[in-house]
Amino acid sequence: MGYVHCCSCLHSAKTFVLKNFDNYQYIKMEYLDHCPKCNHTVVVLTKIDSKKNISVSRFTNVKALKILKKVKKDILYELNDTNEIKNAEVN
Ligand SMILES: [Zn+2]
Repeated sequence: MGYVHCCSCLHSAKTFVLKNFDNYQYIKMEYLDHCPKCNHTVVVLTKIDSKKNISVSRFTNVKALKILKKVKKDILYELNDTNEIKNAEVN
């Protein structure tokens, strides 16, 4: 479970780890179906490249759905709290 920032607060969101592409070593997607305040659909992509640079891109509504559709086939697994803890131990 991850969090997406919208309407100046954090909302719990589904988190997925995606298959790597380009030079990225780790790609994570947070998906907020509907913000409880503004009702927007929000997708946040977090990408880490081989030099450990982190880039975060945020998409809303139509753009968010477009991204979601595009990366759906690249979803490896959903990250839940147990996975988060496991990853933290590995790193
Ligand atoms: Zn909102």
